[in-house]
Order: sequence, then structure tokens, then C-alpha cells
Amino acid sequence: MTPLKSGKRNSAKSSNEICSNRQSGSVLLNSIYIEITDTCNLNCGFCPCGKQSQAASLPSAKARTFMDSALFKRCIQQAALHAENVYFHILGEPTLHPGFVHYLKALETTPLKLNLTTNGTTIARVGKHLLQSLALRQVNFSTHAYGELETAHAEKYLQDVLDFCQMALAARPELYINLRLWNTGDFPDVHRQKEWNQFLIAQIARTFDLDGNATPDLEHFCSRHKSFPVRGRLYLHRDSRFEWPGVGNINTAGTCHALETHVGILHDGRVVACCLDHEGKITLGHIHEQNLDEILKGPLALSLLEGFQKRELRHPLCQKCSFCRRFR
Ligand code: SF4
Ligand code: SF4
Repeated sequence: MTPLKSGKRNSAKSSNEICSNRQSGSVLLNSIYIEITDTCNLNCGFCPCGKQSQAASLPSAKARTFMDSALFKRCIQQAALHAENVYFHILGEPTLHPGFVHYLKALETTPLKLNLTTNGTTIARVGKHLLQSLALRQVNFSTHAYGELETAHAEKYLQDVLDFCQMALAARPELYINLRLWNTGDFPDVHRQKEWNQFLIAQIARTFDLDGNATPDLEHFCSRHKSFPVRGRLYLHRDSRFEWPGVGNINTAGTCHALETHVGILHDGRVVACCLDHEGKITLGHIHEQNLDEILKGPLALSLLEGFQKRELRHPLCQKCSFCRRFR
């Protein structure tokens, strides 16, 4: 749900250098994705979380899970040794976790900063806790998700999000907030999404008194111009509809920033290579059983990392991942 920005890999470091640095020194990442729940209250058509919801009544449906507090403490204790930032999702809507506010508080006992990605449907309830949280650095609202909802619900959720943005601009002007419209591309309900985008832009302009020149113009968005400032550190962020890995043609050449900038921890403690591996297909270890340092220096992690450095996609999941094609 929250891939990192694309960009060029640091070519100054050789693959041997990166792998031998990793074996000998402490592993420093930018972010760790801690999936505190795989539950969501929405049902987006492109998301495996939504597909699981549709199948929830089937006997084979997997029960949804909330990460317990002991595992969460273990995750943030380990994350603080290796990263500056955490996210609270891989799949799922983190604010639905019954312990969400306690987990926010627990983060304040570490140096970690939270970049929260949320669908925003609970923001009227959790917004005040977020604004009080010293650990919170950024909030990303998946406002494209409302384009699939009934109009009345979509408009209510958007209004709650915009109310939060106004409060945040006054109370926490240093917070980064992104209103995401990740719905460019060619897919069956694209016309409905376009109507939603126009409505959202109009509501942003009305809420923040933007005149015609200052109002985001979606026609001006392109792969190099995705972020449009609205006010202060509030941005509209445009991107293509996201594709999860595992479908499409096999491609063995390519690279990825996974393991160099980020890793994920699923709700049951499995450590995975990236924020897209919601099924644990690239499970590197288990945070219950090993320290993160050992896991990141394990043979599978080092082999994948070396492959990325040599532009080899060694894992079958990576070979069916369209996201990594962004990395040159
Ligand atoms: S809101 Fe996010 S987690 Fe929930 S179904 Fe939509 S994309 Fe998936
Ligand atoms: S290439 Fe592999 S590690 Fe990178 S994002 Fe895709 S599935 Fe994840």
C-alpha cells in the first residue's frame, strides 16, 4: 500500500561491498513496515485485503488478525535498532486495531517516527490522538479508495479527512500529509474514479480557498510530477493504481530497494523482504525467534540483496513484480 518512491540505486557501492558491509556491521534501513492488522473495513477491488473480505464467508477464508501487544513491543524494539521510521501496515487498516492508541504511545518510548497510511474512515475518532502523538511524522490518506464507495459514504469520509487536515495545519504544521489519488491507469471503473477525482479536487479548493491557479490540475501530473502542494505541508499525491506482485509475465532482470531501504513484518511476526509481500512468500525469518539483525544477515536476505545489486531478480515473487520496474 505504501511503496517507496522510485529512484536510481547508489551505483557507487559494489554488490560485494554492500553484502560484506551488511555481514560485518549494523544494518541501517530507512523504514520498517509493521503490519499491526490485516483487517480492513473497506473492500477495494484491486486490493487482496478487499478480495479476502469478499471471500470471508467461505469456509477456506483466513481469519483476520490483530498483532498482540507483546509482539508489537518486540517489533518496535527491534525496529529501533535498524530504522528511523515505521509504517503500521502491509495490508490492512491500522487504525482498526483495538490497541492503536496504545501503540502510538508505545512508539514515543523509542526514537522511531511513524508514517501512517490510513484509509481515513476512522479519522474523526482517532484524529485527536494522532495530533497528540509526538511520534507521528506523516499521514497518508488513501482517498482514491472512496471512489469505489456509495456517494454519501465517500463524501462523509472525505469531509472528515479534510476537517482533520485543517486541524493538523493549525495544531501540527510540521506534519506531512498526503491526500493520495493513486488511480491513474486503465481499469474497468476508471470513469467513476475520474468523477471522484473531480469532486475531491473541488472539495479541496473549497476547503482551502484555492483559486483557479492554485487548484491542483490533474492533467499536469506525470511520472515526474506527482506531488502538488495544497497548503503548508499538505499535498495531493497522484500515482498509478497499484498492482500487487504475483501476476503477469516473468521477468528475471531488474532491481529493487527492498532490504536496502526497508523490510516488512507481518501481523504474525514473519519478516518479509518488502511492503508488498502480504502473503509472506519471501519470508526471511520470524521476529519471535531471531533478532532482526540475524534475519537481515541471513542467507536468503543476502542472496536477494546481492541479486538486486547485480540486477537479478532471484525470487519468483520478484520476477512477477511490476512495481520494481520503476527502479532503473
Ligand atoms: S483501504 Fe487499503 S487495505 Fe483497505 S481494502 Fe482498500 S487498499 Fe486494501
Ligand atoms: S521486487 Fe521483490 S522485494 Fe522488490 S517490491 Fe517486488 S516483490 Fe518486493
